[in-house]
This record gives sequence, structure tokens and C-alpha cells, in this order.
Amino acid sequence: MTIFEKAERLKQLPPYLFKEIDRKKREVMARGVDIIDLGVGDPDIPTPPHIIDALKKAADDPANHRYPSYSGMPAFRETVAEWYGKRFGVTLDPPTEVITLIGSKEGIAHFPLAFINAGDIALVPSPAYPVYRIATLFAGGEPYTMPLLKENDFLPDLNVIPSDVADRARILVINYPNNPTSATADEEFFSRVVAFARKHGIIVCHDAAYTEMAFDGYSPPSFLEVDGAKEIGLEFHSLSKTYNMTGWRVGFAAGNREGIEGLGAIKSNIDSGVFQAVQLAGIKALRGDQSCVREMASTYQARRDLMISGLKDMGFEVDPPKATFYLWIQVPEGYSSASFATRLLEEAGLVVTPGNGFGEPGEGYFRIALTQTMDRLSETLERLKKMSF
Ligand SMILES: *Cc1c(COP(=O)(O)O)cnc(C)c1O
Repeated sequence: MTIFEKAERLKQLPPYLFKEIDRKKREVMARGVDIIDLGVGDPDIPTPPHIIDALKKAADDPANHRYPSYSGMPAFRETVAEWYGKRFGVTLDPPTEVITLIGSKEGIAHFPLAFINAGDIALVPSPAYPVYRIATLFAGGEPYTMPLLKENDFLPDLNVIPSDVADRARILVINYPNNPTSATADEEFFSRVVAFARKHGIIVCHDAAYTEMAFDGYSPPSFLEVDGAKEIGLEFHSLSKTYNMTGWRVGFAAGNREGIEGLGAIKSNIDSGVFQAVQLAGIKALRGDQSCVREMASTYQARRDLMISGLKDMGFEVDPPKATFYLWIQVPEGYSSASFATRLLEEAGLVVTPGNGFGEPGEGYFRIALTQTMDRLSETLERLKKMSF
């Protein structure tokens, strides 16, 4: 044992599957290759100016320089409730059913600390945003994988979860519109989740980061719209993707008051809330002109259409997503996720994310994030056309 011997919670982390691709990316970059990075789910478009102006004004006011309230400014939580009412027809009590988060990742990662005891199970999807699984492990819980498969439209099959596992489970995590598969879920699926969670006494956490990034007139529902959802569940939301604010670190959780209370108790012992100027800018984002959200969606829709038609012409198996800025694409015959991603990087300077990096059921896929301009995406298609698979 050395002085800096890592704790078991770090040692048990799954191997970081992007390590190899990160190393190769640096190697290819060092050769001077013009790399097109389609790997990261981080909007390339800046935050709309009216939101930045609100931050600048608020930053000048000394009243905002002191510690903020732990659960968030009342005005921010009221704005979230108002937005939920307008957008989803969901009624929320701001002081008890909404809490401000330092980005939704923070809330998702802290939530299991409030409700998971050693050996408790959390039902987590795979492939998925890695935080669900790791947060469960950090809390001493056991993640139980719900595979998201094409034949089930990338929805978890609740019927195959053994009932003893379901009875031991404290938390079930879902995420629609989904990262990385870009699948969507309807109210009927959410109702089935509510019935399952009630039957087995499970808290549902819905990660709703992508509800505003949708195409062709589609408007993704909130989990909280479904009857009974608030009795058993919470929704995690974020301004990151909706308003191109990933760097700002502001999001929120909404839903069951005991759930919000538990999360708040953990947070108040770990962090001290979100800079008020950022919350005031968040209020501006949620209450202000929403045309920036429509513009963002139409930008990604045009990029999606360009990529889907180009990829289909080349024979790739890919369904056009109704939401999210991801394409979830099957690798050609004879490749694994890793071997395909490696070949694209080494021969074409294209960075894509191998699907198995999001969990073993993602093997056989790769993910493209539509976070490059139309010119760069056209260049991507040109480079792919020059290769043969
Ligand atoms: C981007 C993303 C989030 C948002 O994270 P923030 O911490 O709010 O920036 C949450 N969940 C998923 C699945 C995401 O892809």
C-alpha cells in the first residue's frame, strides 16, 4: 500500500474504453492530420446573446457575489415550475418539488447517495451515459444492466428483469430522448415504467436532457406528464443542450418532494449552490424568447438530414433520429466498434465514439455527434466515400 493508494470505489471503476482512442487521436493530431471530431456531445454553437447579457448584468451586482441558497434561488425554481407548466402541462410546487443543480450531471451523480445503501440495486440502461452506473457504484450499490436493444426500439424490456432483482432495486434510471442511441419514448412506455416502479417500490430517475432537441415537429414528453409519475419519480433537466450552456453548469431536478428533499440533503453537505448570476441568466433563458431553441433544432435537423442521406448512400444502417444530436450507426460487416473507430481515425482523421464505450450492449455501433458545421460534415462524407468497408 502506498500513501496515495486509491480507494476501492475508484479501483472498481470500469476500464476507460475511450483511452485507446484518445491516445490514437493525439498521435494522429501530432502527425498534423486535420481531425474532424464527431465524438463529443457538446454544442458547437455559442450561448444566445440575451442570456450572456443577463449574466453580465447580474455579475455586476454585489448581491450576487455571496453564497447562494443551497436549493437554488426561489425565482429560478419558480421559473422552472412555470416552464414545466407551459411546456408539459405539469404542475410543480417550486419550494418542494424543484431544486437547482450545478448541471444535471451533478444531481444524477449525487442522487444515489441519498437513497442507496450497500448492496442495493439500481436498474441502469446500457449503452448509456456512464454517470448512472458509476454513481451507483460510488454509493455502494450494485448496478443491474437493462440492455437497450434495437429489437426493442432501444427501450429497456422491463418484463425480463427478475422479480427478486426488481424487489431489491431502489432506483431505475431512464433517459429519453436517449444518449447515445437517439431513441425516443412515448407516454405509453412511461406509464409502463410507473406501473413497474409502483409494483416493486422503486424510485424512477428520468434524465430529460434532450427534450428540447427534437425534429420534424416532434415534441418529446416529460416523464412527469404521466399519471402517478410524481409519486415515484423525478426528472433531471439541464440548460446545457437546450441553450448551448454546457460550460455554465446549471440544471435542475423536478418531481417527487421526498426525492428532492433527499437530494437536497446530500447537496447541502457537499456544495453551496449555483452562482446567482448564472441562475439569473438561466431565468432569462427559460422565460425569454424561445426562438433560439427552434433555431438550434433546425440547425441540427439540417445536419442530420445531410449525414443520414450521405451515410445511407454508402450503405450504412442508420435510422434518422426524431431527437438528440446523435446518430447511432451500425458498424459495417467484419468490424467491431473499436476496430471501426480506429480505422476512421487512422485513415480519415475522423473521431467517432465506439458504441461499446457506453456499455457492452453498444458493441456493433458507433456514435456521431452532429456538433460540426455543414461544411465539416460534408468533408466527413467525402472522406468516408474515399474509403471502402
Ligand atoms: C449532456 C447530457 C446531460 C447534461 O449534463 P449537464 O451536467 O447538465 O451539462 C445529462 N445527461 C445526458 C445523457 C447528457 O448527454
